[in-house]
Amino acid sequence: MKKLKQIANSINFKIAMIFMLLLLATIEIIGAYFTRQLEQSSIQNFETSIQVPSIISNQIANQLSRANTQSANKQLSKIVTNYNNDAINQMIIVDNKQVIRAVSNVNDQARVGQRDTSNEIKDAITNGKQISQVENENGNNMIQITPLTATNGTNTNVGAIYVRASMQSVFNNIRNVSLTFLTASLVAALLGAIVSLVISRAITRPIEEIRQRAMRIADGDYSGKVKVYANDELGQLAKAFNTLSVRIEKTQEATDSERRRLDSVLSHMTDGVIATDRHGNITIINETALNFLEKPESEVIGKSIIKVLGLKDITMQDLMSNQQELMVTINPNSPDELILHANFSLIKRVTGFVSGMVCVLHDVTEQQKNEREQQQFVSNVSHELRTPLTSLQAYVEALNDGAWKDPKIAPHFLKVIQDETQRMIRMINDLLSLSRMDRGVAKMDLEWVNINDFVSHILNRFDMMIKTDEKNDHHKKYTIKRELNNQDLWVEIDTDKLMQVIDNIMNNAIKYSPDGGVITVRLLKAKDHIILSISDQGLGIPRKALNKIFDRFYRVDKARSRKQGGTGLGLAISKEIVEAHNGRIWADSAEGHGSTFYISLPFESMAEEGDNWDEI
Ligand code: ADP
Repeated sequence: MKKLKQIANSINFKIAMIFMLLLLATIEIIGAYFTRQLEQSSIQNFETSIQVPSIISNQIANQLSRANTQSANKQLSKIVTNYNNDAINQMIIVDNKQVIRAVSNVNDQARVGQRDTSNEIKDAITNGKQISQVENENGNNMIQITPLTATNGTNTNVGAIYVRASMQSVFNNIRNVSLTFLTASLVAALLGAIVSLVISRAITRPIEEIRQRAMRIADGDYSGKVKVYANDELGQLAKAFNTLSVRIEKTQEATDSERRRLDSVLSHMTDGVIATDRHGNITIINETALNFLEKPESEVIGKSIIKVLGLKDITMQDLMSNQQELMVTINPNSPDELILHANFSLIKRVTGFVSGMVCVLHDVTEQQKNEREQQQFVSNVSHELRTPLTSLQAYVEALNDGAWKDPKIAPHFLKVIQDETQRMIRMINDLLSLSRMDRGVAKMDLEWVNINDFVSHILNRFDMMIKTDEKNDHHKKYTIKRELNNQDLWVEIDTDKLMQVIDNIMNNAIKYSPDGGVITVRLLKAKDHIILSISDQGLGIPRKALNKIFDRFYRVDKARSRKQGGTGLGLAISKEIVEAHNGRIWADSAEGHGSTFYISLPFESMAEEGDNWDEI
């Protein structure tokens, strides 16, 4: 059915049909005209052929003019019977009183002498004009009534000859001719259809080839050319099509390479790029933008940029008219928080019509975080310095107000002033060394040291301090337990700085263990690093504070730390120093039972090298 419809719609079929219909219409018009002419002339000829010759009609007129009717009728009957015309099947002679005088048919002899009542005969006699007409009843017979005038010159109507002749042969002839004509026209139409099919195929073949080639071009296949059959209009069309296909191929190649270039620029950009249509629905998005949004491409294409970026209280109208720049926060208040600077610009056509928008996303999380940290740091420093300064001011004022005279409180006040001043100096020094490390100007004085000896040396110092402390009445009872490695472990470190780290952790272990206890120092060797751990049995650190203790000025218990002379910068400095050694520092704790601090430093086994040196 579909195939039939396709054929019926083809130009081939249409041309053949038009050709055939035109041919048929022409043949039919000619045929109709021809058969009509044939019919008319055949009837005319037939009319003439059944005309009673004048010699006979004169004889009849003579007989009708005679007085003796009996013998006249006899004569008339003789003339009628003897008259021989194959077409005529009935002949009647009527006189001017419309009385039948003779009949050709034997069976009708009884009518002789009777009056004929038909109007046609009456008309013919009175008007003196011949009537020829095809019989109404079956149309196969012709009736011819010829009026007769007297031969004596008086010109009076004497009667009429009524002739009835069969036209069957005439109609048979016409039918035969028509049939032949019909057959001929059908054959001609068939031949016409075949010829027109051949011609239309010759016309449509190049068109079909161009169509197929166009389909291949649409599928991206530019190979091959349309064959040029002749230099006619179709040939020129084929040539123009071939030129067009070459141009399309070149343009396509240029567009493809342009697109590839754009794709590669977009995908290698560190900034996110989003393009939308004029309704704000996303049409293009690059890899970086997808990573920022943590969404697959399928989830954002076609969606509104406002929804995808999670912009609140902003309409597309705002973005199009005035909103050029915005700050967008992804995953706000979570560890994965991402702060993006979004810059919007409109895509305009030459006419000024806005066809879309481009949004460039720049990751400013680090920058924002740094700014926030810097602000926090300045505020912390101010706060940390204000507290000791306020207390200094209070003590100095009290002394000034006369307390200096009181030998009981003056030394105590002066001791507090001295302690606070020392703490402030320590803090300033700590801040200065942190700042040096931040700026990257803290010089690392690296040397190869056997870490076992190095740690032992520091711990010896602490043992000495404990012994001195024990002489005091209010000393805390704590001991240092060493679980050191007896191997020679050579690591490259800045001894002063790493000593500062270990001192800080050891001092903290003492400071935050109010009831004393055992401080265990362990040294472990792994494949490519050594781990130094210092455990105490002190207050411990709450789990949620474990990550924060390395932040500047963070203290679990601010008052306690301050009372102990702490600055809240010790661990922050330690972290910077360890990381400058490409190491790592972290803490673990069971609150109320103690804490363990770990320092991991990179280590390269130099056993073989060492052996070689020994041999030399
Ligand atoms: P501070 O000068 O306050 O000691 P640090 O940076 O050395 O500053 O330490 C930060 C905070 O970590 C301390 O205030 C304390 O709350 C906690 N902390 C450090 N070491 C220990 C420890 N061994 N036991 C319990 N808490 C500790």
